[in-house]
Amino acid sequence: MNSIDYIKLAKKGEIDVIKNTKETINEIKKIDKDYNYFLILDDKLDKKTTKLKKGKLYGLPISIKDCLCVKDMESKAGSKILEGYDPVFDSTVVKKIRDEGGLIAGKTSQDVFGFGSFNTNVGIGYKIPKNPFDKNRATGGSSGGAAGITQKLSKPHIAISESTGGSIACPASYCGVYGFTPTYGLVSRYGLLDYANSMDKIGIMAKDIEDVALMLQVIAGHDDKDSTSSNVKIHNYTKQEKSKFKVAVIKESIGKGVEKEVIDNLKEKLGDIKYDLVSLPLTFKYSIQTYYLISMSEASTNLAKLCGMRYGQHGKLEEEFNEYFSKVRSKYFSKEAKRRIILGTFARMSGYRDAFYIKALKVRTKIIEEYKKLFSKYDLLVTPTMPNIAPKFSEINKMTPLQNYMMDIMTAGPNLAGFPHLSIPSGFSNEMPTGLMIVANHFNEKNMIDFAREIK
Ligand code: GLN
Repeated sequence: MNSIDYIKLAKKGEIDVIKNTKETINEIKKIDKDYNYFLILDDKLDKKTTKLKKGKLYGLPISIKDCLCVKDMESKAGSKILEGYDPVFDSTVVKKIRDEGGLIAGKTSQDVFGFGSFNTNVGIGYKIPKNPFDKNRATGGSSGGAAGITQKLSKPHIAISESTGGSIACPASYCGVYGFTPTYGLVSRYGLLDYANSMDKIGIMAKDIEDVALMLQVIAGHDDKDSTSSNVKIHNYTKQEKSKFKVAVIKESIGKGVEKEVIDNLKEKLGDIKYDLVSLPLTFKYSIQTYYLISMSEASTNLAKLCGMRYGQHGKLEEEFNEYFSKVRSKYFSKEAKRRIILGTFARMSGYRDAFYIKALKVRTKIIEEYKKLFSKYDLLVTPTMPNIAPKFSEINKMTPLQNYMMDIMTAGPNLAGFPHLSIPSGFSNEMPTGLMIVANHFNEKNMIDFAREIK
């Protein structure tokens, strides 16, 4: 049963919300013994069902990626350094969910601060989530917990997730669920533990496109608390309208380096939909470099506040301040966080700034222009979501950081440019799911959702 049908029945009293909540939490507990999708689970959630508003999400269990603040629930973006932080407020998205009668089930696993494509860069001492189809393989990242539980849970549920460079689309593809990332600014980021502010977007994972539309209806819209949140008109996403779209497939995305079955599944999924083959040469050549330079630059400034004085873990101050900061940061930041802090700081340093950070900003503008040209002719652009199926942990362990970063070849472009994108399950290869990604022009998420309904 999808969430929409569940909510209808719950409102009519034909489903017992207390019983359903208990059963959902129990099922999650059982799954988590083997799969490690949750960092925090509210096992008293059934007690919170009595005074629920009969809103759009009435009685529906919803999981929240750990990087979003939930009042009185440990929120640490998967990191060790923020362990023990219990926010005194709800992020705007969580508040909107509660206002519609949704139930916050807990916080899902992620790569620390979103730094990864496999959810293997977990905080020091935390467990790595496993792919729902094969425990020897990764879920994808950084939102692996959200994708895994969305696939594995038999009960109605929707996951709230976050993407900076592909963290929703990637795990959605590897775990065979829908992964929706809105236009930058459509959904408020208030209460998000930032990775890279100019690219972070809060989005959705679900098993059904109608659940995506329902949740978007709830969380989209302007918020005074987020100065980058947009004032655009909110569409009725839950109602299907248009069905004829001008579609193009990106040539570079179905060529060398992409597994054959991934390409075959994309073509099969599109079926008799007519499409042109078009090219995004600049984007495919430079988006990875540009994305990583900008994201690491922003991440390194964001993480500067976690120095052991005011936020995050503390130590004992016995030495000079700088030594103390280094001591605390060395102890609690993971290897990947350190790598990004060092590279990001380097890219912003005087003397290097023009050559790296500023240049990356210029290339970013060029990439946006390249997409915009195509959007003057086409409504939707299609690529595979990931070039491959979920890799095995043994394969990931052998990858260099650069090979790791290359995994984002399809997703870095739309994320850099703030375009909405949606990964939809496109089939299977070697018994593992593959994904197809639709990209639309800014604030055209409605077209994307309607198209997904069409090719369902
Ligand atoms: N794989 C990308 C990275 O490591 C994406 C992360 C994200 O979207 N949060 O930066």
